[in-house]
Amino acid sequence: MLIVMKRGYMEEELQAVIREIEKVGYRPHLSRGVETTLVGAIGRGPTPELMEHFRALPGVAEVIPISKPWKLASLEVQPFPTVLEFPTGKTGGGHVMVAAGPCGVESRDQTLKAARYVKAHGAHMLRGGAFKPRTSPYAFQGLGVEGLKILAEAKRETGLPIVTEVLSPDQVELVAEHADVLQIGARNAQNFALLQAVGEAGKPVLLKRGMSMTLEEFLMSAEYVLSRGNMRVILVERGIRTFEKATRFTLDVAAVPVLKSWTHLPVWIDPSHPAGKRDWVIPLALAGLAAGADGLIVETHPEPEKALSDAAQQLHEEEFAELMEKARRLVAALDRTLSAPVLG
Ligand code: PEP
Ligand code: MN
Repeated sequence: MLIVMKRGYMEEELQAVIREIEKVGYRPHLSRGVETTLVGAIGRGPTPELMEHFRALPGVAEVIPISKPWKLASLEVQPFPTVLEFPTGKTGGGHVMVAAGPCGVESRDQTLKAARYVKAHGAHMLRGGAFKPRTSPYAFQGLGVEGLKILAEAKRETGLPIVTEVLSPDQVELVAEHADVLQIGARNAQNFALLQAVGEAGKPVLLKRGMSMTLEEFLMSAEYVLSRGNMRVILVERGIRTFEKATRFTLDVAAVPVLKSWTHLPVWIDPSHPAGKRDWVIPLALAGLAAGADGLIVETHPEPEKALSDAAQQLHEEEFAELMEKARRLVAALDRTLSAPVLG
């Protein structure tokens, strides 16, 4: 339920409401707006009696049920966009960021090269999987800990924060030591134990949509992270399975406006995995930005033809530069801000 405080309420009244929420076994979520202060009381379906109880407390204007099954993710509980800040840029609330880099960390040389040029062309974050979830157990599985160390070195050199995937709850601590953002891949998007573990790790989470998940299910996955006290979640639409076989997945561009009408969390687009082929990555990225995405996560490799995973979809450096240039113009035309390139 959502508790709306009266205009001119006293701070002690607010604190008493929060204490009462905890006392009845709910989790309070405070949202102080310019006009109104809201306190979400998050827990299992409140009874009419409980709502009545809160309605009677001093300083309370109204108590309303939260209509959506996702509570902390909803615009009802937080009616303004979440803006996540990194040393290199911001995402959400009109700020757009780009994370770019190879699908997988394959070597020191490959990763450092990619890190240098994505930074030079204006990316704000370096991506790269150290642990790779592969359809085949015989395919390249990533360099593991060695890959994390290479990412850490790339960060030291370029200053770009790192986003990298974590595959299981027992890896969370290790990956969180090196990563600035923990990526949950499409194949793990409903791994609830993993979602809870990253919810407790204290690092922002980049959550991909599962390839056969509805948008409601997607937000319920985000809710697993939020309900562990971690409100820093980025949602990524990366394509879903449909009957179409021309592309690797069908990019659901509509997910962007729909999610943004339901949630305050930043919504990004991954144009690489739905395209499956590098020729189609730039148009899909631009479509996502035009639909209102707060960021992009894009695959690019110094020598894509030699990539050990997702070779066909990784952009060459020149193509990545072209994408950044076009993204910059599009974002400006939409009166949004692409965080400035990182210098130095
Ligand atoms: C990736 O980002 O390389 C990846 C494996 O993505 P997804 O989980 O969206 O397939
Ligand atoms: Mn990939």
